[in-house]
Amino acid sequence: VPELPEVEVVRRGLAEHVVGRRVEMAEFSGPRVARRHLPGPVDLADRLRGRVVTAARRRGKYLWLELRDQAEPAWSAGAADPAPAEALLVHLGMSGQLLVTAPDGPPIRHEHARLSFADGGTQLRFVDQRTFGGMAWSEVGPDGIPTTIAHIAPDPFEPAYDASSVVRRLKVRESAVKRALLDQTLVSGIGNIYADEALWRAGVHGERLARTLTKPTLARILDHAREVMSAALDQGGTSFDALYVNVNGQSGYFDRSLNAYGQEGRECARCGATIRREQFMNRSSFSCPRCQPRPRSAAGSGRTQGGRG
Ligand SMILES: [Zn+2]
Repeated sequence: VPELPEVEVVRRGLAEHVVGRRVEMAEFSGPRVARRHLPGPVDLADRLRGRVVTAARRRGKYLWLELRDQAEPAWSAGAADPAPAEALLVHLGMSGQLLVTAPDGPPIRHEHARLSFADGGTQLRFVDQRTFGGMAWSEVGPDGIPTTIAHIAPDPFEPAYDASSVVRRLKVRESAVKRALLDQTLVSGIGNIYADEALWRAGVHGERLARTLTKPTLARILDHAREVMSAALDQGGTSFDALYVNVNGQSGYFDRSLNAYGQEGRECARCGATIRREQFMNRSSFSCPRCQPRPRSAAGSGRTQGGRG
């Protein structure tokens, strides 16, 4: 599943290759790609035709193209926005990829959507082997966020992100701290991988109840989450080759240097103990038994496996 850094790489690719171009035609194939757009794929194609992509934006793991009738930059000069923008939300799902390709090439395996542009140049194709991803249209609210994801909290890289407010809300959570970190309505963009990494860096077991941690510790965990995602972004390629571009970061852009996630059986880089894997919220969690001792009482919600206290 793409996490925030991967989605940001995709966003940058879209900003480079698609923003500023007018959609000439959108084509959708298969029953699933537009299933989140209830009026259906024909309606979605109608809404896209003739619109100008004025921005590629992201909040957490959510990605969208901002659409307007004109590319006039009046609003970017600080003037009032002449008309509310609309958005094409792109859900990458488990395996969704956006490819910038030469125009009018043959369909790619697992291609479900294709956007052609009025300039006749490269096309944008949505390829998704497992078809959990898709595209949907949304209005955009006054805050610039698509209304269909208005409940998603700012991610740690946004100006709207308020770390102290998130800490205050964490401090009253009855749930396990990892569960809270994964709650996209509290802070968005932290997925399983980066939650484990942030907790390892902070030396906190994910099943500790959030309210039992001090505010400085909670703040530290959030800072670590931001740092580890930022480091991943620094490693991720931001340059894209010309014609055939995979703007999804899944295929090797990220040589993630991970300390906990996926490191079961390896030595903890800090203390040398063996990294363990546990089940939590139906997913694997990785931690160091010495740096991140389990809470005494197994009160962590979502726990599905027994263990010593
Ligand atoms: Zn350790």
